[in-house]
Parts: sequence; structure tokens; C-alpha cells
Amino acid sequence: MPVCGRFAPSPSGRMHLGNLLCALIAWLSVRSQNGKMILRQEDLDAMRCPLSYAELIEEDLRWFGLDWDEGGLEGRGPHAPYLQSRRSELYHFYLEQLDKKGLLYPCFCSRAQLHAASAPHLEDGQVLYDGRCRRLTPAQVAQKRQTRSPAMRVRVPEETVAFTDLHYGRVEQNLATQCGDFILRRSDGVFAYQLAVTVDDGLMGVTQVVRGRDLLSSTPRQIWLLNQLGFPVPQYGHIPLLLDETGSRLSKRDLSLDLGELRTRFGRPEPILGKLAYAAGLLDRPEPASARELIPVFSWEKIPKTDLYCPKGLRME
Ligand code: GLU
Repeated sequence: MPVCGRFAPSPSGRMHLGNLLCALIAWLSVRSQNGKMILRQEDLDAMRCPLSYAELIEEDLRWFGLDWDEGGLEGRGPHAPYLQSRRSELYHFYLEQLDKKGLLYPCFCSRAQLHAASAPHLEDGQVLYDGRCRRLTPAQVAQKRQTRSPAMRVRVPEETVAFTDLHYGRVEQNLATQCGDFILRRSDGVFAYQLAVTVDDGLMGVTQVVRGRDLLSSTPRQIWLLNQLGFPVPQYGHIPLLLDETGSRLSKRDLSLDLGELRTRFGRPEPILGKLAYAAGLLDRPEPASARELIPVFSWEKIPKTDLYCPKGLRME
């Protein structure tokens, strides 16, 4: 079966170099196996994700030569639409399937309650939910609904999910102690990333997910949800994060590495891609290279496991 990969950016701002690295590796991994690439825009939180950013992301990807076979705003392909904000009915349908299995419950906890000092913290900075709304009686639920609309949480079992990451190897997570019951729909009605990404990867027939290692700890719960919904589980490959010189993760706020700025400064994609590929271990020297020229040199083994420092010469001094 041919590989089907995807790039799934959240259009909450213009892409930066870290997003480009992720798009590049996902694309190279698929193209080096003659696979198919899907572009899906994850604009669930429509207030934070105006269409203009989604358009810019597509424009930037094209400029760098990172093409796709299916998806995008134009919605080319059998699984349209490829914009999450237009896929709510599907998320609703699958949320109901989980509800029918008795896996969901409404949660009325406020942010302050969830982040109480006593709450155990998880690896990814989230807190482990103590399950207090799991125990509400139907009468208590009805009463609380009068003053507050609830989020919907999924009840996870005492189960360890394990998988072999293409890059980081075997990963294991106990859902009850290292993840906890998690939210699938927020109290304002917005579907959660965990639900949408699972439904979309499942429906779109994605067989390979490549993304930053910050999402490594989300993968076991997505695998568990895929199993619950009867979808096949793709292969996962997480990649190191790109750090600034202080060792912090690049963010969309770091404007000097925003792709608009880089494009203006360099005028063409090759010098940027070459430096990025060098930082990712794919080239021996930071020489200019097009995306296509990087396909034959790509291999997962060359990419370090440790996080990467932003390549020299890209930052505006
Ligand atoms: N939309 C997510 C992000 O931009 C990525 C989701 C994914 O690749 O699973 O962080």
C-alpha cells in the first residue's frame, strides 16, 4: 500500500522555521517513498485562525516547493473539505459514537479548578485530571447544566498503549496515570485537537504521521481513540524541535524567523532549505538545495534525536 502522509498546520499565524522543518521532513519522508501527501489545515479554533493565514501557509509551502496531492483550501481530493473548521459534522458524528459506547461524560470544572496547586503535572505541562466530574450523578449534571455548559471528556481505561516511533523507537504510556481523561469538545463547543486529528487521520487514510516531538505524548491517546473508532493506526515519526540560541523552542512570536521575513531576506528557497537540511543532519554542508534535491539524501537515521539549534546565518543579526 502506498504511503500516505500529511502536513497539518494550525493557521494561527504565519509559519516559522520550525513549522517549515516539520513540513520539509514530512514531505521528504513521503516523497522518498513515492507516497501521497495531504495538506490539511487545522483551524478548529476559527477565531484564532483566519483564512488569510491558511492562504499564506499554502503560498509559503508552494514557494519552498513542498507540494501536495490532496487537500488544501481548494479541497482537491476524495476527503474534502480539508479545513477542519468545515468538518464539524464529522467530529460530531464520531463524538456520538464514543458517547454510545459510554465513554464520555460532561465536565464542568473551571480552569482554576483544573490547575489547582495539588493537581499532578504531566510531562507536556498539562495537568492530570482527577476525574471529579466522572462521579457526578445525573441530577447533579442536570443542575450544573443550568449555569454552565460543560466540556466533554473521554474516560480512559487503566491501559498502557505502546508503539514504535519511526525516530524515537518504542514509546509507552499508561493512559490512566500519564494521560488521564481528556477533553474532546470544549465547553464553548469547539472540538478538541485530539478528536479532530484522530477522525481526520482515520478518514483520510493517513498511513504516516510526521510531526514535532512535542506531540509524542499525544500519540498514545490518538492511537487509543483510533482503535475505539475502528480506524487503522498509522505509523508515527516524531522529529526534534528547533531551538533558539537560549535553548527555547521557536515560537510564532519570534518574527525574525517568520517565513515572510526569511523569504524577503533570501529571495529564493534554496539557501534557506540547505541551511535547514544541514541543521537536521541531512547535508554535510549548509549549501543551497531545493526540496527535490533533498529527496535522494533523506534518511531518518541522519536526523539527530536531540533538539536542533536554529541554523547559523538564518537569523537576522
Ligand atoms: N496542527 C498541529 C500543529 O500545528 C499539528 C497536528 C499534527 O501534526 O498532528 O501543531
